[in-house]
Amino acid sequence: MPPNKDHVNPEKCTKDCSTEISVDPSLKWRDFNQKHKRSDGSEIPSCIFSSTMENDNRNMTVNSSLKIAAFDWDWTLIKTVDGRLFDDSESTAEVTWLYDCIPHKLRQLYKDGFTIAIFSNQPGIEKRTTTIEEVKQRIDDVINSLGVPVNVFISTGYNACRKPSPDMWKIFLEHFTSSVSQVDMKESFFVGDSAGRLADWSPGKPADFHCGDRQFAANVGIDFHTPEEFFLQEDSAPFQWEKV
Ligand SMILES: [Mg+2]
Repeated sequence: MPPNKDHVNPEKCTKDCSTEISVDPSLKWRDFNQKHKRSDGSEIPSCIFSSTMENDNRNMTVNSSLKIAAFDWDWTLIKTVDGRLFDDSESTAEVTWLYDCIPHKLRQLYKDGFTIAIFSNQPGIEKRTTTIEEVKQRIDDVINSLGVPVNVFISTGYNACRKPSPDMWKIFLEHFTSSVSQVDMKESFFVGDSAGRLADWSPGKPADFHCGDRQFAANVGIDFHTPEEFFLQEDSAPFQWEKV
């Protein structure tokens, strides 16, 4: 489902913002050619992706330096409207932006010259609580409402592409940024909610279920922020690197 309009403030993106975007933002999904076997023997691609880089001429000049604004998906950019966890309800949950400011912020990052990328684990595909087509559709709906070119990489289960492995980042760089002279690792960053924060990191909040997003950023070698640090400018919270 597209983001609930009650939760989104499209007027925050000024006309200037949208008129500068000349790249088709619709996602064109492909399978990574490495397969992963489920326990029942059936095969799925270990990663599915959609990249805008072949069309995004801003980033293709010989001497350009690519700065990447990268994000996790569930509970970093979007949430379920009813608060259910995705593992319980991936195929049916209505989603909305996690915070009202997010679409404006993403458009502004694009306008400021960042290449936007999403790196998400969707193990429900392997576990059959959702399907590849359902995952694609949910992301398509949200990205279409955003109207900004976004590169999306989805690991489908417990395989080599699953964060905190940096493999999806490597696939992005090796397959889509070869004509860019360098990636600006100092300007690039990753935002995710799997950050190892302890219980009550904000009053009443449970501990993060894992630290995989923070570990992913460390494995890639770029700065890390939680959604609350990045979108709400909150102070950083205590965390543990291992599972909490
Ligand atoms: Mg998440």
